[in-house]
Amino acid sequence: MAATIIDGAAQAARARAEVAAEVAEFLDMTGRPPGLATVLVGDDPGSAVYVAGKQRDCREVGIDPYDHRLPADATQEQVASLLARLNGDETIDGILLQLPLPAGLDSGLLTPMIDPDKDVDGLTPVSAGRLAQGLPGLRPCTPVGVIELLDAYEVELTGASAVVIGRSNLVGRPLAALLLERNATVTIAHSRTRELAALAARADILVAAVGRPRLVDREWVKPGAAVIDVGITRGEDGLVGDVDFEAVAEVAGAVTPVPGGVGPMTRACLLRNTLRAARARSEIGISDGASGGRA
Ligand code: NAP
Repeated sequence: MAATIIDGAAQAARARAEVAAEVAEFLDMTGRPPGLATVLVGDDPGSAVYVAGKQRDCREVGIDPYDHRLPADATQEQVASLLARLNGDETIDGILLQLPLPAGLDSGLLTPMIDPDKDVDGLTPVSAGRLAQGLPGLRPCTPVGVIELLDAYEVELTGASAVVIGRSNLVGRPLAALLLERNATVTIAHSRTRELAALAARADILVAAVGRPRLVDREWVKPGAAVIDVGITRGEDGLVGDVDFEAVAEVAGAVTPVPGGVGPMTRACLLRNTLRAARARSEIGISDGASGGRA
């Protein structure tokens, strides 16, 4: 195995420790902790596990978690009214509407109702527009986590050729924008892309955000490239990424594992976003200029 293994769990632990120290400073300055409200509609067990994890992460760093739950048969109006209440609640700095929503609810209509200054998932059209125009704002957590991992392992972004496979609003598009902001030359690939393997094999930085187990094998990877595996598919043997890890690790310069790569960073970046939102709302300047972190 030639590649450096990018240790997302270790990096996330460092990020959480940093956030915990900065949350303590925030509390000192303002007399209140940052607050994150999670909204879970329905009883999907996977979503419940994610929300419980986010609540636990908050407590660990001193952010106050608020756990809001609505039944699976909640109406669009009920969810909208909860979001409106949280928008107006001064103790809440971040609002996270857990997706997917139960059938009958329209996330395309509900997500935009979140106050963009509390949009710690970075998913509202306003947040996406701010990112697209390079304006300060909250950025989606997974793409921010990917950039942090690349920075932590000193992967050069300026002038690098980056290929992002996947064009979702959650991962692919915002990540492409963040890479562009950092002066990479970015190609976004998707299910209709022709000769994807050959395209991928020209990338200095290859990101797979697809959800197809082991789609990316060693022929797709330029020797020495940094390969970031965002994909998560739950299989019989646990979580599987989009990258054939063992094969790719023989040619890549650096590669993220699944689990233990991008996932933990996504969670840590949610905490960071909540702190950023709290500081911006309290008009406390932010100390770091990390990519995607301007709130
Ligand atoms: P998504 O909305 O389903 O988007 C998947 C993207 O992959 C689409 O743009 C799709 O293209 C493209 N695609 C599908 N099949 C393809 C193929 N054969 N070749 C090339 N592109 C293909 O998924 P997402 O929300 O972005 O999530 C992607 C993966 O990341 C999932 O496995 C998800 O579980 C995981 N994820 C992980 C984290 C984390 O923290 N690690 C966070 C978020 C998501 P079209 O647009 O043409 O359909």
